[in-house]
Amino acid sequence: MSSIETFDVVVVGGGPAGATAAHTLAKRGHSVLLLDRAGRIKPCGGAIPPRLIKDYDIPDHLLVAKARSARMIAPSNHGVDIPIDNGFVGMVDRSEFDEWLRVRAASAGAVRRIGTFEKLTRDVDGVSILHFEAREHQQRGGGKPAMVKARTIIGADGAKSQVARHAGVTGAAETQYVFAYHEIVKAPAIKPAGYDDTRCDVYYQGKLSPDFYGWVFPHGDTLSIGTGSADKGFSLRNAVGELRNASGLGDSEVLRREGAPLPMKPLKKWDNNRDVVLAGDAAGVVAPASGEGIYYAMYSGELAAYAVEKVLHTGDAKNLQMARKQFMKEHGTVFTVLGIMQWFWYSSEKRRERFVKICEDRDVQQLTFESYMNKKLVRKKPMAHVKIFFKDMAHLLGLAKV
Ligand SMILES: Cc1cc2nc3c(=O)[nH]c(=O)nc-3n(C[C@H](O)[C@H](O)[C@H](O)COP(=O)(O)OP(=O)(O)OC[C@H]3O[C@@H](n4cnc5c(N)ncnc54)[C@H](O)[C@@H]3O)c2cc1C
Repeated sequence: MSSIETFDVVVVGGGPAGATAAHTLAKRGHSVLLLDRAGRIKPCGGAIPPRLIKDYDIPDHLLVAKARSARMIAPSNHGVDIPIDNGFVGMVDRSEFDEWLRVRAASAGAVRRIGTFEKLTRDVDGVSILHFEAREHQQRGGGKPAMVKARTIIGADGAKSQVARHAGVTGAAETQYVFAYHEIVKAPAIKPAGYDDTRCDVYYQGKLSPDFYGWVFPHGDTLSIGTGSADKGFSLRNAVGELRNASGLGDSEVLRREGAPLPMKPLKKWDNNRDVVLAGDAAGVVAPASGEGIYYAMYSGELAAYAVEKVLHTGDAKNLQMARKQFMKEHGTVFTVLGIMQWFWYSSEKRRERFVKICEDRDVQQLTFESYMNKKLVRKKPMAHVKIFFKDMAHLLGLAKV
């Protein structure tokens, strides 16, 4: 047993959360193993806000497109165009983006291994042993059993985390999910009427999703066309077919069809009181209503890194709780508000219609986008908040005309 290699931190999962955690820790001089499963591109619309680009130094060449406006489309097909003032929403291709993040972590000193985490055991001193199926390269099949020891572990292995399950993180098994599905299609050589490759279209229509939304996001040479729902009986595939037809892309070549679960809210506990802390989708940090998860995955990965560093320095496992505490302090209110919004506005055609109507208001547009872009509630226009509050209340109570 003593010949097993030991790391300060083993990070399981090399998506945005895990790669960011590994980069943060390796830069700070810790011995880090980044373990990532082989060969699957994360299904994702790939939209990222400027705050992420700035905070995590994302180079321009990773942005396959820049969206300069968004169109919100109501059940009646009434559309509201929202220009993105002073900026853009970046679009990334997850196969390139995630690999670039993993390479950056490795250049800071993290050891990369390709393999699938299988289980956790402990040695006689109580130190965690991670068992995984190791591969030599990014291909499925042909793995062999391997183990490493870890003083601390970051579980960044996405929704339905196996690390959470094996570490016994309480509550992980009860998480609720929206299932999101999209098709990557080739951008058409001849643009259909109304096509704009700098605009994101967001459809609030019950036939495309009874409880979420459908999207058409430009990605340069391709587009991501998708939808999501927590309703297991709803056919996401049919809905995306309808969405493609509605946006004039019914005949475009489909390059990939893929889907994945999106956790609906942050877990109540991210750690096992001992040596494991979760980050990203594994911790449930996808924003309700928007489904945005990349920024929150990276931020929670960074917080998980600081939390395990503190444990390594002090030996006190209570420090693992810092990651969740700090995250909720920063984003808890926004997650709660977005959760209420999703529950209320996405629940009927009438409400969806009203929701899009509200988005005609210039103040609503500015506040929504600035909050999304910069991850801060805008405080410079207090009267606008008051106005929106009363407008929302009027709509909630059915006093406003559609
Ligand atoms: C269809 C769809 C569209 C989306 N669109 C957007 C969007 O436009 N913008 C946005 O911000 N968010 C979007 N999201 C959400 C976003 O993709 C996730 O929130 C984000 O990827 C979470 O990052 P993560 O690192 O926590 O997990 P993941 O990206 O899921 O990464 C987990 C990693 O762990 C690895 N792994 C899993 N199990 C094991 C194991 N047993 N052993 C070893 N490795 C393992 C996986 O291979 C993967 O590399 C979308 C999600 C879906 C499903």
